[in-house]
Amino acid sequence: MGESRVGEFGFIDQIKSRFDVPAGIFGIGDDCAVLPAGDEDWLVSTDMLLEGVHFLRSASSAEDVGWKTAAVNLSDVAAMGGTPKATFLSVGFPKDAQGTWAERFIEGYAAISKIYQVPLLGGDTTSSLRDIALNVGVLGTCPRGTALYRSGARVGDTIFVTGALGDSAGGLQAILKNLERTPLVQQLVERHLRPMPRVKEGMALRETGCVGAMMDISDGIASDLRHILKASGVGAEVYLDQLPISTELKTVCQEQGWDLYELAAGGGEDFELLFTAPADLVNRVDFPIFPIGKIVAGQGVKWQLNGNDYTLKTIGYQHF
Ligand code: ADP
Ligand code: MG
Repeated sequence: MGESRVGEFGFIDQIKSRFDVPAGIFGIGDDCAVLPAGDEDWLVSTDMLLEGVHFLRSASSAEDVGWKTAAVNLSDVAAMGGTPKATFLSVGFPKDAQGTWAERFIEGYAAISKIYQVPLLGGDTTSSLRDIALNVGVLGTCPRGTALYRSGARVGDTIFVTGALGDSAGGLQAILKNLERTPLVQQLVERHLRPMPRVKEGMALRETGCVGAMMDISDGIASDLRHILKASGVGAEVYLDQLPISTELKTVCQEQGWDLYELAAGGGEDFELLFTAPADLVNRVDFPIFPIGKIVAGQGVKWQLNGNDYTLKTIGYQHF
């Protein structure tokens, strides 16, 4: 950003201040924009993946990149409690990716699209000078007025997540550090390369009618929870000892001397859902959800480990 550095989120605020949004439409500031359409709301989002920033050709197969490109976008619809209906894919391929790489990319993209039954309905194809650029637009729907926003958290709510945190960050470390692919390490790598967006869970959570705020975990809870707190005007206590952490990650962290809590709270791309609801929601859904803290008055996150205050080093991933 040259000399006036406002950061990634400051820049988005600047963009937002330049545009008037028509009444009844929700624009910038959540996982999707929300546009009323008859008795439904349309949920629209777009996410970009760049070679060298989001993936390395040397570390992920083309199929994996295709999978993940679709997955991160489906996850943004899941984050609102929506049903994904269609994606649109724009690609910029340098010469050396225009043949086999591109075809295998589409294979991975098609594989996940089939699982979630979401058709690809359009896009754009261009050449690129050096790096691969990928962008997806996604359209989802939910019944009118039922989308779950980041702004719905209330004091007294319990904070939940839908699954293990930190596996993806552990998998990324394993790739970057070239760890031997033991079965445990391989599982972390798989979670990094082939995330499963929580689409069914997101819809089921919306249908309970009990969820306050919801979003997906793309940058790590240390960063993502702050978005819920800011949008809702509340604070939080998070109990690090309650975070769901896989035995794979625990074991690999022990073996490698990695900091488990930094990875679980600061590491991104697990694409689990982060949401707030009354504590007894645990008994009313037929899939695992994990309480990790509570919403309190005030602002910011107070991290605790076994009853003691804890200072996290990381604040999650920000692009600039
Ligand atoms: P997510 O991680 O869920 O994709 P982001 O943190 O990337 O969300 O973005 C936060 C919000 O800012 C979203 O509502 C997104 O649509 C919006 N946003 C991000 N970049 C831009 C941009 N260049 N122009 C307009 N809106 C943007
Ligand atoms: Mg999101």
